[in-house]
Amino acid sequence: ALRAGIVGLPNVGKSTLFNAVSTSAKAQASNYRFCTIDPNVGLVDVPDTRLDQLAELVNPNRVVPTQIEIVDIAGLVKGASRGEGLGNKFLGNIREVDAIIHVVRCFEDDNVLREEGAINPVSDKEIIDTELQLKDLESVDKKIQRIQKVARVGGDAQAKFELEVLERVKQWLEQGKNVRGMGLSKEEMVAIDDLFLLTVKPTLYVANVDEASMLTGNKYSQALQEVADAEGAEMIVLNNSIEAQIAEMEDPEDKAMFFSEYNMTEPGLHKLIRSAYKLLNLATYFTAGVQEVRAWTIGKGWKAPQAAGVIHTDFEKGFIKAEVISFEDRIKYKTEAACKEAGRLRIEGKEYVVQDGDVMHFRFNV
Ligand code: GDP
Repeated sequence: ALRAGIVGLPNVGKSTLFNAVSTSAKAQASNYRFCTIDPNVGLVDVPDTRLDQLAELVNPNRVVPTQIEIVDIAGLVKGASRGEGLGNKFLGNIREVDAIIHVVRCFEDDNVLREEGAINPVSDKEIIDTELQLKDLESVDKKIQRIQKVARVGGDAQAKFELEVLERVKQWLEQGKNVRGMGLSKEEMVAIDDLFLLTVKPTLYVANVDEASMLTGNKYSQALQEVADAEGAEMIVLNNSIEAQIAEMEDPEDKAMFFSEYNMTEPGLHKLIRSAYKLLNLATYFTAGVQEVRAWTIGKGWKAPQAAGVIHTDFEKGFIKAEVISFEDRIKYKTEAACKEAGRLRIEGKEYVVQDGDVMHFRFNV
């Protein structure tokens, strides 16, 4: 599964959020799965109303959502890039994630210690950003030194090109900016792909606000929103403590009452997980049989055989054809037979690019 890592300064509400995510996953109906891989890693279902709608139509034995992995990366502090605290270990953990969920404190509470004085989400965010940028600078510098000779001596064209890109990345980082905002082309990315830079990773900001500002946000979350907008990044407003409380509730009636009291339509966590999934630039296709209705995760632009390979490598190797119905048609015509009759069941070949929401059935040789 793809991984999203929760980062942020100490005492901003990361663990509270991670616990809410893992508790809520555990509390789901029995066909929902959660597994704790280690205390800081959890697999969580991606809520998708389309899956629920398909399940309602087909009434299968099992419903299996797609999942993402959430990692709690605690312990980042100012100076982490210089090895402060357990800085290097935590930065290493970030290197292994596909996306970052950056929690920023937007709540006041005198009981919760804040080392840096008054609440300031913009400066909090910058502290973390700076650590990641410094670490990236280190990686970029190392590579520059390594390929400089090759670029000069051999006149190697590729090395020259990469060196030029790396110099630009370096300057960008030195201006205190994240590499993901550089708009590097695919060709340019080749120069840094092997570095697994931290500030390239897609990032979602979570403004952790107090209870009163849960729906509206507050002056702190607004300030953070402005910087997020300037970066072209997504930000969501959550109250992590409330989310943790919702996650604890087992009785659906209690939950419903709680939601109406707080004017909520769903747990904020659902929004968080959906946003994280969106951040990863993924697509979902479905299989819908009486045994199992299931969501599968693929990259955008994947062709049918590769998508089939997510189910089983044999499906990819032996791929013959795919029967495809769009989600909308599957819901509109209700049965596969009716879709077929209406000419809405397509037979697609190896070159077909799977679309988000496709309901697929693969034919393959074994
Ligand atoms: P972490 O160090 O970032 O993992 O932060 P924690 O999740 O451990 O939270 C630190 C403290 O802040 C704990 O005492 C939490 O109960 C409290 N806390 C977390 N979220 C909120 C919130 O939204 N409002 C308030 N008032 N306190 C919170």
